[in-house]
Amino acid sequence: MTGPDSSFLPVGFLIHSDASLHDTGWGHPEHQGRLRAIASSVGQDLLALDGRVIQVEPGNIQEEDLLRVHTELHLGNFRDAVGIATRESRLVSLDPDTIVSPNSWKAACGSSAALITAVRMVNDKELSTAFVATRPPGHHATAERAMGFCLINHVAIAVRWLQKNRKVRKVLVIDWDVHHGNGTQDIFYDDGSVYYFSLHQWPHFPGSGTAGEIGEGAGLGLTRNLPVKARTSALAYCDLFLENLEQVLQSFEPDFILISAGFDVMEGDPLGDLCLEPEDLHFLTSEVIRCAPKGCGIVAALEGGYDPKRTGLGVKAVLRALAAVG
Ligand SMILES: [Zn+2]
Repeated sequence: MTGPDSSFLPVGFLIHSDASLHDTGWGHPEHQGRLRAIASSVGQDLLALDGRVIQVEPGNIQEEDLLRVHTELHLGNFRDAVGIATRESRLVSLDPDTIVSPNSWKAACGSSAALITAVRMVNDKELSTAFVATRPPGHHATAERAMGFCLINHVAIAVRWLQKNRKVRKVLVIDWDVHHGNGTQDIFYDDGSVYYFSLHQWPHFPGSGTAGEIGEGAGLGLTRNLPVKARTSALAYCDLFLENLEQVLQSFEPDFILISAGFDVMEGDPLGDLCLEPEDLHFLTSEVIRCAPKGCGIVAALEGGYDPKRTGLGVKAVLRALAAVG
């Protein structure tokens, strides 16, 4: 196993210009400063990376791309909330955590569009790999509802786009966000074509993600949850990750890997209590590339990460690993 065989191709970095317009208020942990910190950290590094990483403009998204994952009712509720936010010039809460502002539809759909652009270009061998700074995050959004800051599930939308438009058969979603990605798990729980593999702090929000949740029906055995205790050491976390990644890849052999990259797994995050450093995320990303089947596409998407400066450093580390730079 040698991972992507397109080392001569550049790595893509994508961020939709509307994503930072999603306004939750500065008191909310998922605020507009997160993307600014990431853009600043990555922007300073692009020169040093000397053409290995290029910024790519996101394309568009169609309603049908959203409807492959989400119900019309959910999308209607989201649109209605944006309508109220726009007419009344205020923020609208979909639940105690999840806020909609006038530009939230554009931000969320723009982020999903950016992820679709990334997976298309990696699949079509125009990029070797890619990182997409999606905002708001997506992995708590189920088919039917927004929750946990997440409005629509970007990773799930990208998986379905690949399967529909590029006939990609088997997709592995690796989720290292400190929180369990209940939405992604739920969407693919009985699906034999998508493996969901998550490490997350437990007990912790949203409460799901026990080791006993293993999928059902055609998806039985294709959900693997590794709940880890708060303050688990970075070394123990990485060992657990690698041991299970190898088992997952031996049993499933994906054609494409999407990483739900949460940077709230890092030491000091205000919404998590795990201990990873940027170099650990560099290591994990490098190992995913090393262990992936030859020719398997790999794209990482931003989920959480609520210390903006640290999140910026983490994204830089993951991007460097994708570019095979130390
Ligand atoms: Zn999270």
